[in-house]
Amino acid sequence: MRIVIGFLMIVNILCMTVKVDAQNAENVFTYRVGLFEVTTLAESIGQGNKGILIDATPEMLQKYAPEGTFPNGTNAYFVKTPDKNILVDAGYGRNLFINLKAIGIEPEHVDIVLLTHMHGDHIGGMLRDGKPAFPNAQLYIAQKEHDYWAADGRGEQARNVIAAYKSKLHLFEPAEIGQKAVTLLPGIEAVAAYGHTPGHTVFLTKSNNEQLLIWGDVTHAMAIQMPYPQIAVTYDVTPKDAITYRKAILEYVAKNKIPVAGAHIIFPGIGAVTNDPSSGGYLFTPAK
Ligand SMILES: [Zn+2]
Repeated sequence: MRIVIGFLMIVNILCMTVKVDAQNAENVFTYRVGLFEVTTLAESIGQGNKGILIDATPEMLQKYAPEGTFPNGTNAYFVKTPDKNILVDAGYGRNLFINLKAIGIEPEHVDIVLLTHMHGDHIGGMLRDGKPAFPNAQLYIAQKEHDYWAADGRGEQARNVIAAYKSKLHLFEPAEIGQKAVTLLPGIEAVAAYGHTPGHTVFLTKSNNEQLLIWGDVTHAMAIQMPYPQIAVTYDVTPKDAITYRKAILEYVAKNKIPVAGAHIIFPGIGAVTNDPSSGGYLFTPAK
C-alpha cells in the first residue's frame, strides 16, 4: 500500500529546477513495508549531465539520453518502525528538516542514522553549527567507510561528522548480497555495495514478509545505468567494483522482486526493478 503525501514534484520536473523549493514541504512520499513506513525526503529534483558517465557509447546516449541529460535527484529516507525512528542518509541538509517536519518528525525524535557512505550529498544534514543535528541519534557507518574518511587529508566534512558523533558511533561490516545477513536493528540488514566509495553500504528493510532495499548510490543515472549497469560514473572511487556490485544487486532484487529506494532516483525515489530483454539490463518502474 502506498500513500502519496505530495505531488508538487510535477511542477518541479516541468521547471527542471535543480533545487526543491524549500516551501514545498510536500516533497515527501511514504511507502509501506509491512509494519514499517519508509518516506522519501527529496533534497533536489532536476537533471544530470552525460559528462558523469564513463564510457557511455553514442548509441547508448542516443537511445536513453538523447538531449545529453537525464532525470536526477537527491533523496534521504526516513524509516518508521514500530519502535524506532531511523534516518537513512542526511542529504545536503537543504530541505531535510522541513521535510521531516512535514511528517511530524523533529530532529530530536531521530533515534538512529544509517549512512550509506560519507559524500557531501549524504552527510550535509548531519551537523548544525558543528554539533550533531540529531542530538539523540546513534550513528551507524560501515567500518571500511569510516576508515577511508578518517584518514588524514581526506574529506574534512566527513571527519567533522565522525568527531561530532564519536560517542554514538557504531561501526559494522556489511554482508555480501544474498549471503548470511548482518542485522543491525530489527528488520534492518546491512549489505555491501562497495566501489562508489570503499565502504558504500545499502540497507535491506524487512517487515511482515515485505522488503525494500534502500540502495544509496548504486545508481546515479537511472536512465543509462538500468539498461547498462556496466556504465560507471566519475564520482565512483573504484568504478570497476561499483559495476560489479551494481550488477549483483540488480540481479538479486530483480530475481527476488524486492522494490528499491535510491538516493539519486528521481522523486518519488522508490519503485520496482525488472529484467529488460530489449537492453539485456533492467527496467525501473516508479511506485505510485
Ligand atoms: Zn550521492
